[in-house]
Amino acid sequence: MNPTVTLKYPAPVALPQAHPDLSIVIPAYSEEGNLEQIYLELSKILPTLQLSWEIIFADDGSLDQSWQIIQDLHQKDQRVKGIRFSRNFGHQYALYAGLAQAKGRAVISMDADLQHPPSVIPELVSEWQNGSRIVYTIRLDHADISFFKKTTSRWFYKLLSFLSGVKLESGTADFRLMDRQVVDSILRLREEGLFLRGLVKWVGYPSSSITFQSGERFRGVSHYNLKKMVKLAWAGITSFSLVPLRIGIVIGIITSMAAFGELAYAIYAKLFTETAVPGWASAVSILSILFGVLFILVGLLGEYIGRILIEVRGRPRFLISDHVGVEQVRTDDAIR
Ligand code: UDP
Ligand code: MG
Repeated sequence: MNPTVTLKYPAPVALPQAHPDLSIVIPAYSEEGNLEQIYLELSKILPTLQLSWEIIFADDGSLDQSWQIIQDLHQKDQRVKGIRFSRNFGHQYALYAGLAQAKGRAVISMDADLQHPPSVIPELVSEWQNGSRIVYTIRLDHADISFFKKTTSRWFYKLLSFLSGVKLESGTADFRLMDRQVVDSILRLREEGLFLRGLVKWVGYPSSSITFQSGERFRGVSHYNLKKMVKLAWAGITSFSLVPLRIGIVIGIITSMAAFGELAYAIYAKLFTETAVPGWASAVSILSILFGVLFILVGLLGEYIGRILIEVRGRPRFLISDHVGVEQVRTDDAIR
């Protein structure tokens, strides 16, 4: 007699691996409408790659149900993991903290709002398998992206490239693949005011890039307001360039040359001509222009000294309050 064996437990979907081939890192700030959708899309596309994978959500102190949703997703699928910040520390730190938890041989970072289409992932992975340690993506702007955002972003990348010598194409997004070696190099950088787009360029390694058509935000609103954009741009400039500090030297040289010229002229006029040195209006306006410039430069100095102060203080750059699925959470102190 042949008793039929019934399977008591459902077959395991796929056991999470300690070191998967691929980690997807997704910073998320109040993205409750998007998390399930991005999980669904990823869980369709990733199995086509024949690689083991994990998804790491870095909740940047969301004010909505995002963390609950991340926990639910983890219950459903152990390959979904998450960390949660104690408050909003900013996109760049969420991304960095996510990278620190990722175990994959390659790590892909992308936004939670589906503006970075998961359908591009196979292309990223095949570039990696062909030997690129970093695969950049260049965003081809969607018609919906505002004129303001397009132009400011283009000018910002031009200015940054000019000031710092780090060549960043306009449309560089935080959507890219990095090899384990690159991620480890990034994690060695301990600076405040993270500007990961620049840092990834800075570390070097063989790289390639692909283009993608940016989509519309699936649900919710952008949290990158003007203030956050300016803050990120300023972090980019001050962490990569000392040119603003050197502006003072250039202005100093030009004005002192002009002053010497004027002095020579005044002596000449006194000795050889009868004309008095004319008007004080010009003198006063030059004086006030120079004072203006001087204060701007003092302010700039203050900015850089402020950065030094922040570095010296050595506070953790982010704090993690909860986690799911990560056995050993890597805090900022652990990385520093
Ligand atoms: N984000 C974050 N912390 C923030 C702001 C944004 O982690 O303080 C995340 C956000 O959830 C998204 C990504 O960063 O996954 C890009 O943000 P967003 O879509 O708001 O910016 P945009 O695409 O409009 O530049
Ligand atoms: Mg977006």
